[in-house]
Amino acid sequence: MNLSLAGRDAKALWHPCTQHSDHEWLPLLEIVRAEGAYLFDASGKSYLDAISSWWTCLLGHRHPHIVNALKQQLDELDHVIFAGCTHEPAVALAERLCALTGLDRVFYADIGSAAVEVALKMSYHYWQNQGKVGKQKFVCLQNSYHGETIGALSVTDVALYRKTYGAILLEPIIAPSPDAYLANAGVSALEQAELQAKALEEIFARNHATISAFIIEPLVQCAGGMRMYHPHYLVRARALCNHYGIHLIADEIAVGFGRTGKMFACEHAQIKPDFLLVGKGLTGGVLPLSALVTHESIYQAFYDSYASLRAFLHSHSFTANPLACRAAVATLEAMNMEQTLSGNHAREAAIRQALAPIAAHPHVADVRQTGMIAAVELVADKSARTPFPWQERRGIRVYQHGLTRGALLRPLGNVVYLMPPFCIEPSEIAMLAEIISEGVEIATR
Ligand code: PMP
Repeated sequence: MNLSLAGRDAKALWHPCTQHSDHEWLPLLEIVRAEGAYLFDASGKSYLDAISSWWTCLLGHRHPHIVNALKQQLDELDHVIFAGCTHEPAVALAERLCALTGLDRVFYADIGSAAVEVALKMSYHYWQNQGKVGKQKFVCLQNSYHGETIGALSVTDVALYRKTYGAILLEPIIAPSPDAYLANAGVSALEQAELQAKALEEIFARNHATISAFIIEPLVQCAGGMRMYHPHYLVRARALCNHYGIHLIADEIAVGFGRTGKMFACEHAQIKPDFLLVGKGLTGGVLPLSALVTHESIYQAFYDSYASLRAFLHSHSFTANPLACRAAVATLEAMNMEQTLSGNHAREAAIRQALAPIAAHPHVADVRQTGMIAAVELVADKSARTPFPWQERRGIRVYQHGLTRGALLRPLGNVVYLMPPFCIEPSEIAMLAEIISEGVEIATR
């Protein structure tokens, strides 16, 4: 018997973030091709990739400059061990990342979660090397998400991912989120940021001797439902970390490379973290690669004779994979050539304009936007902001509606959002807003 692709998949595969019984009524998409902002299934039907395939696809699928660079790279060097060897793509990318961030040293990993693991270990190890052996704790924000390996999940507060594994995780100190959506009526985003910075200060004042680092998603808590906050919080967090001798880890894995309207979200607050983490869109979304960028002074704290045993021995097989690094260099070149960041101003405005009318819907509590990330929050009761019970899975109805209309939207619970590739056209943004508007209507009936 000839099984369909989905039929063969059902026999051999196990997908991420999936309760497989859902596929009894929600068929898998069989994607055979991608181009620009579109995915195509076996029947030729197209889907506008409104979420950049889990926020990875930065400039559109199969960007010609990235594809050509990869083809060339494949003819030169596929992969090589990165201990004891180096290569042009790794060096060229590190030089670019340092120039873009104003930091000095790059440590590569492969996925976002691995970069988070590196940051936590490097921060802790730095303090060990400095003789501050009591600095062993991490602080993260309420509703934070930093990945799902054990260390990264330890500093993640989204219950859906964390709760089941709580018993086997590190215990972080959880600081209240500056999330503007959670502010009391009449409290501005700026005031909320200041309020929660004061709460952070109290935590630091009490515990600084035991705290190694504070990890944060700058400006947008993405997996936590695209919750957004004022850059003032980052300014205050930077100052507090300086004052109390705590590392600031900026996890820009989701928000880096222009998603918030600037190259890095930290630029909105004009701060430099001690560790800046990037991944996802770093390669244009073509190959897995992540990186930690840090200060020379951190690097120097590990530099000594071998016998001192101060070196950072963390090692992944695919560290600095040449193909992935080359794709990343090509992505940054393409962003330069196409002046992507300034081009996005018009796209941001188009998103703002297209989504604005949805705010009036009786089941929409909030329409928010930071740069090229926008979100619509569905609620059961608008005035009290009572969420729909998660069991009702309202968002998945928007997902289904999107598919029938040729758009890949993948709401986070009750939050419908756009994080499109930067090649998206204003007409496509208008179409997505129309689909969201219809989807919200269907999902909240
Ligand atoms: N940090 C943030 C802020 C993320 O959004 C994600 C992924 N959604 C990660 C870390 C983990 O990255 P990865 O899925 O590549 O491990």
